[in-house]
Amino acid sequence: MAQGVLVEGIVPGRLEPGQYKTNFSDLHPPLDRHEAFVEADRCYFCYDAPCQNACPTSIDIPMFIRQIATDNPLGAAETIFEQNILGGMCARVCPTEQLCEEACVREEAEGKPVKIGMLQRYATDIAMEEDVQFFARAAETGKRVAVVGAGPAGLAAAHRLALHGHAVTIFDAKPKAGGLNEYGIASYKTTNGFAQDEVDYVTAIGGITIENGKALGRDFTLENLSGDYDAVFLGMGLGGVNALRAEGETADGVRAAVDFIAELRQASDLSSLPIGRRVVVIGGGMTAVDAAVQSKLLGAEEVTMVYRRGKEQMNASEFEQDLAAAKGVTIRHWLSPRRVLTENGKVCGIELEYTELKDDKLVLTGRTTTLACDQVFKAIGQTLEIGSEGLALEGGKIAVDGEGHTSMTKVWAGGDCATGGDDLTVTAVAEGRDAAESIHRALSA
Ligand SMILES: Cc1cc2nc3c(=O)[nH]c(=O)nc-3n(C[C@H](O)[C@H](O)[C@H](O)COP(=O)(O)OP(=O)(O)OC[C@H]3O[C@@H](n4cnc5c(N)ncnc54)[C@H](O)[C@@H]3O)c2cc1C
Ligand code: SF4
Repeated sequence: MAQGVLVEGIVPGRLEPGQYKTNFSDLHPPLDRHEAFVEADRCYFCYDAPCQNACPTSIDIPMFIRQIATDNPLGAAETIFEQNILGGMCARVCPTEQLCEEACVREEAEGKPVKIGMLQRYATDIAMEEDVQFFARAAETGKRVAVVGAGPAGLAAAHRLALHGHAVTIFDAKPKAGGLNEYGIASYKTTNGFAQDEVDYVTAIGGITIENGKALGRDFTLENLSGDYDAVFLGMGLGGVNALRAEGETADGVRAAVDFIAELRQASDLSSLPIGRRVVVIGGGMTAVDAAVQSKLLGAEEVTMVYRRGKEQMNASEFEQDLAAAKGVTIRHWLSPRRVLTENGKVCGIELEYTELKDDKLVLTGRTTTLACDQVFKAIGQTLEIGSEGLALEGGKIAVDGEGHTSMTKVWAGGDCATGGDDLTVTAVAEGRDAAESIHRALSA
């Protein structure tokens, strides 16, 4: 049995030392050459391929699968990177079951799509391991572009701008580049320091400087950047966390799920990470699932996800929900947090109120239930952390047009911080790339 699992409170080392490595190993081990051939052979190479139409970065999927089938993985990688320079990370983290693989004709016909994500990983891993670079920069244009945020949106924008010959400086508040690829994505989706390897691969094109520990709003303003650079791209994601608005929220043992996950992603020794015996995670999205699953993998005895609506309304995909269930997480629906219960200032339970739909509106019913727990994670959405800096906002995000252009002439934005996306890595990449093309057109005019 796992060591110390019955100890109450938030303590480290709940598992036998060897168990951590096993628990946090690659969720989907990569395909070998033979497996890749077999899988690629299943593709019909559809004309007007629905999988390609479902990909936010429009990768030519039938083309790259054909290249794999003809033993040309580097050609396949080039096809992928042309559209998505973070194709390696997207192969690991995309909810393919909702995107390309959901649209695959084999999914429709037999409920078993071609494993597009795994094939994409096969090709991109080979190119990155061999450090093959496919793109050369255009001649220097003399134009300088500032990018705020070294997450997927910022990196994709920087790569495309550098490709066109512009000089790019990325400013990022955190000590490491990569954004949520480095600090957010579940450990078992991106193992062995892949996020940093990818940053190195993307910036190897040249013309990109990253300045870490530099924050917009703290170290400089948007006005400074607009004055010093020819254009600015904002890709700073959503750094703030929504409050539970429940009594006792500040108690010892309540914390933001994203902070817990960031700590976990940066930990060199997982056995040193404290975790509760009974953990409650509030929320129904990918962050909630990741916090819940990783709590379980760290040795929490009981983990319960609590969501205020039904299963169908959860932002976490069916696959993510099944993964949580398979790892032993209990998901409870139609419950909203009302009060965090404490003993000597520490969490000892949470009072929840049942919800229901009345005339299509979510309402509280007045009926309550209580869960005993010693740790509560908040995963009910993130918010823009900086002030508007003079930009027009919409629904709490930076308002942009179809090209990622903001209300300010020299400023573009994309990824989670901007309107229009769906808070996925691949969408952030697509928006960063497309905004870079728009900036390039403006700088070339
Ligand atoms: C826990 C979690 C798990 C997720 N799992 C998945 C998944 O499995 N699959 C998937 O597709 N999506 C997932 N997502 C969503 C995905 O990570 C995001 O949609 C994506 O990272 C957005 O990219 P971005 O570049 O817009 O922002 P981010 O990745 O958030 O990067 C923003 C960068 O800007 C920097 N920054 C912030 N403020 C400032 C400032 N003021 N000045 C300078 N720099 C600043 C930050 O340090 C960061 O590096 C997950 C999100 C979370 C929170
Ligand atoms: S839809 Fe499926 S079978 Fe058709 S090209 Fe895409 S991956 Fe191949």
